[in-house]
Formats: sequence, C-alpha cells, structure tokens
Amino acid sequence: MKVGFIGLGNMGAPMAANLAKDGHDVTGYDMATVTVDGVFTARTAQDAARDADVVITMLPSGDILRAVAAEVIPAMRKGAVLLDCSTVDVDSARAVASDAEAAGLLPLDAPVSGGIGGAAAGTLTFMVGGSDEAYQTALPLFETMGQKSVHCGPSGNGQAAKICNNMILGVTMIATCEAFALADKLGLDRQAMFDVVSTSSGYSWSMNAYCPAPGIGPKSPADNGYIPGFAAELMLKDLRLSQQAADASDADTPLGQAATELYRRFVEEEDGKGRDFSAMLPRFEKRGRG
Ligand code: NAD
Repeated sequence: MKVGFIGLGNMGAPMAANLAKDGHDVTGYDMATVTVDGVFTARTAQDAARDADVVITMLPSGDILRAVAAEVIPAMRKGAVLLDCSTVDVDSARAVASDAEAAGLLPLDAPVSGGIGGAAAGTLTFMVGGSDEAYQTALPLFETMGQKSVHCGPSGNGQAAKICNNMILGVTMIATCEAFALADKLGLDRQAMFDVVSTSSGYSWSMNAYCPAPGIGPKSPADNGYIPGFAAELMLKDLRLSQQAADASDADTPLGQAATELYRRFVEEEDGKGRDFSAMLPRFEKRGRG
C-alpha cells in the first residue's frame, strides 16, 4: 500500500520502518528532521498525505492531531483511510473523524499498547474505533506493525478502550506498590508476598508480568533501576485523559482520580519524571502514614 506517515518520533519511526521493511511504499513527515530506514522523506505533511491509500499519524496530543488533520485532510484522495495511532482525548478523536468523514475519507482511531519495544518488534496491540470498511482496509498494516488488533466499535472507541485499560493499569500498579510497602513494614518477605499474590486473588498484570519489586518475578524495569519501560509521565498523560473523559461523560471514577493525583505529585513534585511508572514502589517504601 501507499502509506503517508506523519510523526516519526520514538513510536512512529520504528512503526514506519516496519511498514517499509514489509514492502509498503512509505512517505514520512515530521516537523523535526528525521530520517527512517526505507522511508521516503516528504517536505510537508500534505506531500506525505497526497495520493496515499492510508495516512498514519503518531503525534503527541489531541491539539496537534487536530492541527495536522486540518492540514492533511484536504490533500488526501477520497476513500483513503486516515489512521491515527496517537493516544489523544476521545473528543479530539471524534472531531477529527467527523471532519475526515465529511471530506469522503475513512477515519480510524487506533491507539496502541506495547511501547517503544513493541513498536520496534512489530508486536503492538491496536485498539480500533471506526467503520468496518476502514478497519478491513487497514488490517494488513495492523498485522505488520502489531500482533493484535481489536475493533472496538465506532470512532473514538479505540481511545475509550485505551484510557479505560490504562486507568486500570495505573490503579493496579499503585495498589501493588502500596501493598508491597505495607508487606515490608509487616516483615513479610517480598518473594513470599509475590508467590502468594501472583497465584491468589490479588494477582494482576502489574504483579505477575511487571512486578515493581527488584529481583522478584519476571524481568521488569525494577530490575534495571526503573529506567522506562513505560515512563511515569506517560502514565500521567493517560490518567489525565481518563479523567477528562470521565468529566465529559459524568462517570464516577474515584480511584482513577486518586491515581491521577498520585502520579501528578510523583512526576511534578517528587522524583518520578523520567522513571518507570513502577517506581511508585520506592516512593511508597520511603514514606510513612503522615
Ligand atoms: P514522540 O514525542 O517521540 O514523537 C512525536 C513526534 O511527533 C515527534 O517526532 C515530533 O517532532 C512530531 N510532531 C509533533 N508535532 C508535529 C507536527 N505538527 N507535524 C509533524 N510532526 C509533529 O512521542 P512518542 O513516544 O512517539 O508517542 C507518540 C504517541 O504515541 C503519543 O500520543 C503517545 O502518548 C503514544 N504512545 C507512546 C508510547 C511510548 O511508550 N512512547 C506508548 C503508547 C502510546
């Protein structure tokens, strides 16, 4: 397929490289000067989008997505797919989808999980919102860039799935870390704590697959000085999006709200910036109740 790829950062560059490696004709654009193996570099976003069967965007925020979409939608040919893989607010995803539809395009919102490692290895998971026709058109690209895609319903539902998943992740990581810190104070060995919880009703992905305690469970960023992995500030971004969506839809999310505030303090007032989001454990370890 002829693919335009806009936003060649930590995630976009390896995703575009994988598409090119798989034989797609990829033209990329980034406002920073970036070159990616096998990807032709365009001078403007419009040049990357013109004549493409699918235009992929991988950008930092909803505002930037809206600005880029306003630029590229008029340049795209009718019937082409506008596939946004960024993590953005549900409202921006739906607004861009409605403008794209009005211009005769097929929009999809398809945020990813799997991080930079998943982008490089081509093992991302895509959570997809949009029409069936758009999803079927983009499916070969999802199969190249990832190992799984789930069609979650109409436009915006991919972003909805992503922020609900990550709200659960933020809350369970905090619960896992505070439980380890409590276990420490009660004199319970961390290995014993892991052995019990990972096979009991407290188990979760945070405990079983990404254990925040160094030297315990499978290898995770805790075993590497909490170098991300998934940085605490990206978790904060996703939690904020979840609370923005909860406000807009009048949903009661008290634990999501508490997790957002804890990660805000961790990133903005403590030493969380640039550390993995599981570094909440050393944070709790150091603290008392007051
Ligand atoms: P990044 O900052 O590395 O890349 C974003 C790129 O967009 C940059 O290269 C920037 O120059 C470019 N850009 C910004 N404004 C632009 C514009 N107007 N026109 C063209 N290019 C522009 O970010 P990233 O880590 O690649 O993340 C991209 C998206 O993926 C974000 O929405 C993020 O939340 C999401 N995400 C990231 C991860 C991760 O682990 N990094 C995991 C899942 C999802």
